[in-house]
Amino acid sequence: MSKVQALTSHIKSKISKSASQSSCYSLYNATNNKTRDKIQFATPEDIQQAIQDASSAQERWHRDHTPTQRSEILQKASYILTGRSDEITAHEVKDTGRTISEIKSYDVPAASRCLSYYANMPSILSNGTYHDIDHSFAYVKREPIGVTAGIGAWNYPLMNAVAKSAPSLSFGNSMLFKPSELTPNSALILADIYEEAGVPPGVFQVLLGDGSVGAELVASPSIGKVSFTGSVETGKKLCQIKAAAESNNFSKMTLELGGKSPFIIMEDADLDQAVTGAMQANWYSNGQVCSNGTRVFVHESLKDEFLERLVERTKLFKIGDPMQEDTEVGPMVSENHMNDVLNYIEIGKNADKAQLLYGGERVFSSLEDGFYLTPAIFSNCTDDMKIVQEEVFGMLMSVLTFQDEDEVIRRANATQFGLAAGIFTNDIKRAHRMANHLKAGNVWINNYNLGPVELPWGGCKHSGVGRENGSYDAAFEWTMGKSVYVEMDDI
Ligand code: NAD
Repeated sequence: MSKVQALTSHIKSKISKSASQSSCYSLYNATNNKTRDKIQFATPEDIQQAIQDASSAQERWHRDHTPTQRSEILQKASYILTGRSDEITAHEVKDTGRTISEIKSYDVPAASRCLSYYANMPSILSNGTYHDIDHSFAYVKREPIGVTAGIGAWNYPLMNAVAKSAPSLSFGNSMLFKPSELTPNSALILADIYEEAGVPPGVFQVLLGDGSVGAELVASPSIGKVSFTGSVETGKKLCQIKAAAESNNFSKMTLELGGKSPFIIMEDADLDQAVTGAMQANWYSNGQVCSNGTRVFVHESLKDEFLERLVERTKLFKIGDPMQEDTEVGPMVSENHMNDVLNYIEIGKNADKAQLLYGGERVFSSLEDGFYLTPAIFSNCTDDMKIVQEEVFGMLMSVLTFQDEDEVIRRANATQFGLAAGIFTNDIKRAHRMANHLKAGNVWINNYNLGPVELPWGGCKHSGVGRENGSYDAAFEWTMGKSVYVEMDDI
């Protein structure tokens, strides 16, 4: 059997530590439970050296490169990434268990577009503003923050790495990126791509490891901004770590956290479209999407027809090897995560006493055959049920009914989360009125789960603070304003 070579951090200065001196973890293939990779965690020395290197590299990256020169480099990175699409896709499928068709059609093109979009942004947005004040004048420049850190989740590893690093680098910062310990490959490939495109060493570095590596980045007084994607629980830990470190330095932090989003089908909706939307909002990426519309509120007049069509179409889903082009649902990312999802299905059946209409079972009993589940549809759900309140992050849909618009808005907003919401209706006035009243960072009308780079992305309440993507939002998130007042009179 061939020996699996451990993946190591992509940092400017290699600190020579033998594998025995830092933790080395095995990762398992979700389709057969065989070792897929080993990763060697960055040591505290690696992290400190990388931060130091990121600091000197950032100064040169900003000082010695005009926005246009940085733009050319990022644009080149976008082309290289597209050229390496097959390789990236294969790694991303193996790491996440998500299907090849999704990653090829969404993740890789979206990552390339994101690089391209931010390549040109600073030339447009960092010119700042000019103000006449009495007889004098002032201008506001937008300047880089300095060293930034990105910490990613495992469901969209490439997109996490690109959505954080593209605007950060483009506005003249450097970045230390820590991917999820489950999905290290795409961030390492991205580091190669940046290097090939001409990003100087030290400007983008990848540190491998678990939460302890992330925690060191959050606590570092040399890092001016942390952009985090992950669970609410970890987000809260980050706030504590940051608060404790705040006596050394103040820094910015954005938190992109979990959700339990409402998906609302009004009585005037196109029912087939609504079924398609509900499936997209629950089964895409094997149900492992932060913004999934897992609380499906269907008007009581449509309930029976909706459930019938939903079950009928869900049964047709092709579950299997995510590397096959026609597979629609792959395995859960890990054995642990599969067990977490199964645990919620048990809670739904036995504690909540919701009605399991379809699915919620392992496809194969042996781990060697993969961590596959059938999508679970629960009906007769009520707002107080655990499966309706808590984020499952797997294929578990809770279906609830309602009678009128005011009621559904009130119940949709009765959650600790505020990431996303969906409305299916053919009444245009109602659609905008409802969008106005829903407390969420992203609202879709007659569609679901679309996140184009042009639109700011993020949540409110426990779903997080700050925004990713967008133009002005990104400029504010990844730069700081500097006001320069110019006196034209004697004082
Ligand atoms: P997680 O919180 O377990 O881990 C996320 C990252 O945080 C990992 O890189 C992990 O190593 C790191 N980490 C863990 N403990 C840490 C600590 N104490 N200090 C610093 N870093 C630490 O989340 P996950 O299981 O990887 O991802 C699933 C969660 O992410 C879900 O809740 C999902 O909703 C959320 N998510 C949100 C978005 C969004 O845009 N809002 C996108 C994707 C995923």
